[in-house]
Amino acid sequence: MQHDSLHRFLIENTNVRGEWVHLDDTWQQLLACADYPAVVKKVLGEALAATMLLSATLKYNGTLSLQINGNAAISLLLIQATSAGTVRGLARYKAEPKSDSLQDCFGEGNLVITIEPNDGGERYQGVVGLQKASLADAIADYFEQSEQLKTRLWLAADDASSAGLLLQRLPNANSEDDDGWNRTEQLAETVTAEELLSIDAQTLLYRLFNEENVRLFDAEPLQFQCGCSQAKIEAMIQSLGQKEAEGIIAEQEEIAIDCEFCNRHYQLDSIDVKRIFTENTVEAGTTVH
Ligand SMILES: [Zn+2]
Repeated sequence: MQHDSLHRFLIENTNVRGEWVHLDDTWQQLLACADYPAVVKKVLGEALAATMLLSATLKYNGTLSLQINGNAAISLLLIQATSAGTVRGLARYKAEPKSDSLQDCFGEGNLVITIEPNDGGERYQGVVGLQKASLADAIADYFEQSEQLKTRLWLAADDASSAGLLLQRLPNANSEDDDGWNRTEQLAETVTAEELLSIDAQTLLYRLFNEENVRLFDAEPLQFQCGCSQAKIEAMIQSLGQKEAEGIIAEQEEIAIDCEFCNRHYQLDSIDVKRIFTENTVEAGTTVH
């Protein structure tokens, strides 16, 4: 089994491309940061796989966030991936959802895809509602609306792994190619969560598309990495303002911050705060997350 990797593939002589993703250590590291109830864990794991599939589909150089805001059991789910293949994520929940349907988890809300380029270029944001029952269908909706591309996703997560499969009709396909799309979509529709979680890319693609000619590209490695740092924490404190920061020190003797993504603990005392506001080396306006 390939761990923490993504494979792109093409189904030759059709208008269909695809991606397969499997996350193990990455998923474990993300889970180690919080103690989630079973349903929240499942939805978070599926969102992780979905974000990696999205990240490989969209062309960008920077950070891609998948965020779902809700007013039911889960108020926020956030996965942030980078074009370098790293990812982090979290969920904030009030209760265990009754089921893993989007309605039970999030109630009324929306799914927001944000791309922030590294070079400071224009930020892109796409929003879709949560009318669909599953995250996979909500993301398919996103592609349909924002990119006019027929896309299907199949997602799965358990305690050990997070996995997914994506099929997409190529953007330059013409309507005469629809048979290839319909045929491969139906074949992929037979995939089970267990197959996604336990079978390697080559075996699974052969099992699903054995009468097709699948070209599988090399694995792209993925890993958990939180982008938080002492410098970003100090920049955040600087943006709070000196008065506010000194107020916290006066009250609590220190400023203690735990990164919600990786649990790393940051602690600053009065000497640190003095240094932050006398040095002007920290870039103002940047935030921790
Ligand atoms: Zn962190």
